[in-house]
Amino acid sequence: MNIDDLIAIDVHTHAEVSCRDEPDAAWGPFEQAASTYFKTDKLPTIGETIARYREQRIGLVMFTVDSEFQMGVRRVSNDEVIDAARDNADIMLAFASIDPHKGAMGVREARRLIEQGVIRGFKFHPTCQGFFPNDRMAYPLYELIAGHKLPATFHSGHSGIGSGMRGGGGLRLKYSNPMHLDDVAADFPDMTIIIAHPSWPWQDEALSVCLHKPNVYIDLSGWSPKYFPPQLVRYANGPLKQRMLFGSDYPLITPERWLSDFKDAGFKPEVHDLILKRNAITALQLDRQLDRRD
Ligand SMILES: [Zn+2]
Repeated sequence: MNIDDLIAIDVHTHAEVSCRDEPDAAWGPFEQAASTYFKTDKLPTIGETIARYREQRIGLVMFTVDSEFQMGVRRVSNDEVIDAARDNADIMLAFASIDPHKGAMGVREARRLIEQGVIRGFKFHPTCQGFFPNDRMAYPLYELIAGHKLPATFHSGHSGIGSGMRGGGGLRLKYSNPMHLDDVAADFPDMTIIIAHPSWPWQDEALSVCLHKPNVYIDLSGWSPKYFPPQLVRYANGPLKQRMLFGSDYPLITPERWLSDFKDAGFKPEVHDLILKRNAITALQLDRQLDRRD
């Protein structure tokens, strides 16, 4: 990633539409409900997303979400995201997503992807994947991730996926209480953990875990900064100013909208650059990359 050319690094964007595979019809009702909830319309392809970010000189981390086990929806493949990152290495990093229910097969996939040397982290979605992050089932995967010094992002808080559907589409919010990540951060003290989103209705839990465990970061994606809970902004201006990361959750929120709302959301000028770029360099270990380049 050409860090010096970028105005910001967005650590949370989604690969929604494959350029290779037909969309899976099983995703249809969830997509429809989510676009009503988030008021989005047509979803961009991976290529369109990258072009948009390049135009704005914003670096991006992109991932798919593997919820094949619980939701029965075929994911956009990790390999496609990785190929896109390889072809757009100036601007894009790939995270992989593997449902921990896949057990040994999932660990094999993770190892294969890591050995290709392109992925820079992993993304988990406890609500869509239907697991508590501190479930021992996921630990072999974490051991592999921690062993390679890669970060792991976990969705936290409410989820737009399933919102308003009958029975919430069968998805359970309880899995995404960030307090479950406290165990993971204690058991894997050298693995960087990124709690994604303001964690409403558990914002204070997220702040507490982050304050207590130095390997924990918070990404500010999924909400316009206009609506951030006041304590989140207060901690971002104070004790957690080196632990907060810019993320949009694109395509659910555009980076343009996030960045323009961020300006007037009460963040002190001296933390802007930390949140927009410098903290991501540390969390994603892009400084390791810089070392190699020098
Ligand atoms: Zn997301």
